[in-house]
Amino acid sequence: MNTVDIVVPCFNEAEGLELFLLETLKVTETLQKYSFRFIFVNDGSKDNTLAVMTDLAKRFPRISYLSFSRNFGKEAAMYAGLQASTADYVIIMDADLQHPPELIPKMAASLEAGHDCCAAMRTSRKGESRIRSLFSRSFYHISNRLTNVSLAYGAVDYRMMTRQMVDAILKLCEIERFSKGIFAWVGFDTDWIPYENVERTIGTSKWSFHSLSRYAIDGITSFSVVPLRMLSVVGAVISLTAFVYILITLAQTLIYGIDVPGYASTLCAVLFLGGVIELSIGIVGEYISHIYMETKHRPIYLLKECRMNTSDSITTGETVSKETTSEESSSDARDCSAVSAFGEDSSH
Ligand code: UDP
Ligand code: MG
Repeated sequence: MNTVDIVVPCFNEAEGLELFLLETLKVTETLQKYSFRFIFVNDGSKDNTLAVMTDLAKRFPRISYLSFSRNFGKEAAMYAGLQASTADYVIIMDADLQHPPELIPKMAASLEAGHDCCAAMRTSRKGESRIRSLFSRSFYHISNRLTNVSLAYGAVDYRMMTRQMVDAILKLCEIERFSKGIFAWVGFDTDWIPYENVERTIGTSKWSFHSLSRYAIDGITSFSVVPLRMLSVVGAVISLTAFVYILITLAQTLIYGIDVPGYASTLCAVLFLGGVIELSIGIVGEYISHIYMETKHRPIYLLKECRMNTSDSITTGETVSKETTSEESSSDARDCSAVSAFGEDSSH
């Protein structure tokens, strides 16, 4: 029997987690061919998500959970869940039922048909503000032009992957993660299934406009150095124009003498160049900040508590564990997985 781990990143999802589990179980129970296990990742929730998880893990078999020492972000939560997974297939889905569990049978069928990954793609952005949709569309457009990984518009993190693809993803252990790009970068054969966007019924979206724009900038700068190259081109064009202008000014001065007026053109040139220099420093700064964060080799997340629960055994841990560093996980992601600190359990 093939095993499937469902990784669910959770941040302040206490209200809806049980409903999510019940709805998803309704679907997974129809798929008798597979053995499903849930891996909930509590990403430093401020509400009682952890208490709900603990309770669910006691009441339902095959529920494991990892709990972070603070909020590390959805990217870190997905990474932790993937590291803790041991199954033949792994599904990543949100806890707010915006990712319809009804797609799981289609995803499983697609993987059985030979695809390495089956991912959901939103066909509408119902329930999302116009401005967010506009920014989102622009981001995909710019990103696909600037980077050599092609992001599908409407693609979400909801997907089912083979163990091979999950292991490939775990090899990319950068601290500032951009999963949409990582999924595309690792390649493999992805089958897309469209679905209608479902509005969140319980809880609220954790994304603010600021966090989304940060995410977009990080996404582009993590996968492309084109902005840096563009700076060189802009610099070259400005230098060339300035050189021509200098020649003209010198010639004019030699022929007609010193022309004192010129306040407007001087001011325009100073302001324009000042703006270009500031922008350039900002772009270079973005890349330096990535280098800075990556060179620290900090762990992607820290666990405070973990309970790996399979039908046969339960492994728990309650202290801050030794966690993965990028170097360790690049050698063998599974060996230094979150659960290994507590004794990895591969039985299902
Ligand atoms: N999430 C998380 N850590 C965060 C923010 C979100 O684990 O810092 C989880 C959240 O609990 C949910 C999923 O990521 O399961 C998607 O979050 P959300 O619904 O807020 O995003 P949206 O659907 O608006 O893109
Ligand atoms: Mg959501």
